[in-house]
Amino acid sequence: MIIVMKRGASRASVDAVVAKLESLGSDGHVSHGQFRTVIGAIGDRSIIQQVPWEAFEGVERAVPVLDSFKFVSREFQPDDSVIEVRGVAIGRDDQFVVVAGPCAVESRDQLFRTAEAVKRSGARVLRGDAFKPRTSPYSFQGLGEEALQLLDEARSTFDMPFVAEVLDPRDVELVSSYADILRVGTRNMSNFTLLQEVGRQSKPVQLKRGFTATIQEWLNAAEYIFKEGNHQVIMVERGIRTFENSARNTLDITAVPVLKAMSHLPVMVDPSHSGGKRHLVAPLARAAAAVGADGMMVDVHPEPDEALVDGEQALPPDEFAELMQSVEAVAAAVGRSI
Ligand code: PEP
Ligand code: MN
Repeated sequence: MIIVMKRGASRASVDAVVAKLESLGSDGHVSHGQFRTVIGAIGDRSIIQQVPWEAFEGVERAVPVLDSFKFVSREFQPDDSVIEVRGVAIGRDDQFVVVAGPCAVESRDQLFRTAEAVKRSGARVLRGDAFKPRTSPYSFQGLGEEALQLLDEARSTFDMPFVAEVLDPRDVELVSSYADILRVGTRNMSNFTLLQEVGRQSKPVQLKRGFTATIQEWLNAAEYIFKEGNHQVIMVERGIRTFENSARNTLDITAVPVLKAMSHLPVMVDPSHSGGKRHLVAPLARAAAAVGADGMMVDVHPEPDEALVDGEQALPPDEFAELMQSVEAVAAAVGRSI
């Protein structure tokens, strides 16, 4: 049940609703939006539903939540969530935030050349992974903590926050001690232990869509993170597996407005991992800006042909610079700046 307070409802009326819930052995999770306050009632539904909530002072309506997710729903919080990371606001409807960098950190030289280039072209957040989920156990798995140390150095040199993937619940504390944003990748979207562990951190989490997950399942994965107390979740559409095999995955561009209607969370698009091919990155990136995404994440490598991971989709710096110009124009057409 979600209890929506009237505009300008007093603090005392909110407290009275919470006190009533607590007297029933339930909890009231208060969320202060830009315009109104909503209270998520958590507990035995059959008991909570019997209370005439609309008779309480300051209550506008009580909405039963039929979905299995609650905190991440638009009903629960009508206003968009905006996540601030070192001065970068993700989720504001006048911004299109670009995250860019190498798929994996391979060396100091590779990371620094990439970071310098993406910063120059207007990216606001650096990406670079220390731990890579590879299909083959014999492929390059990432440099681990050494990569995180290099990213830490790049963050101060280029004044950019960075995001890095965490694969294993045992590494969450380590990655969280370095990264500004944690990322849960497509293969781990349903790793509930990992979701709970990142939910206990105070860092924002980019949650990629599982490549076989429905939007409902994806929102439930976000709910796992919220439920542990971490409300800073950024959804990333990165393509799903369909019968179509002409690209690595099928970018579900429809997911962006669908999510925006169902949830208050920021939504980004990854045009690199969805198409899986360099020539698909720019058109998919422009589609992301046009459809109303809050940003995108792009693989960039100084020498894509030499990349240890995902070279086929990585853009060299000059192509990334061109891409930024065209995406900037599309973003501007929908009222957003990069
Ligand atoms: C990545 O962003 O580097 C990555 C591994 O992506 P995904 O989890 O979407 O495959
Ligand atoms: Mn990759």
